[in-house]
Amino acid sequence: MKCRECDEFLVDYVAGELPSDVLASFEVHIARCRNCRVYLEQYRLTIKAGKTACEAIQQGLTIPEELIEAILAVKPKRAT
Ligand SMILES: [Zn+2]
Repeated sequence: MKCRECDEFLVDYVAGELPSDVLASFEVHIARCRNCRVYLEQYRLTIKAGKTACEAIQQGLTIPEELIEAILAVKPKRAT
């Protein structure tokens, strides 16, 4: 698997929706490729931060601007 493919499968991987054969090659690639590991970690953090913000909104809380900036700051950036 190449980094670009890895990138395409990332969303499904985090959602737990990869077919087992793809999952296997994805995990092999992640284990070998530091760039993709970092990318995956950033993606997870982004989801987590996004969920926290959504929950706060549902509870009628106002999101502090710092938090919004922090969420935007962890947006995945692909290292070239
Ligand atoms: Zn890679």
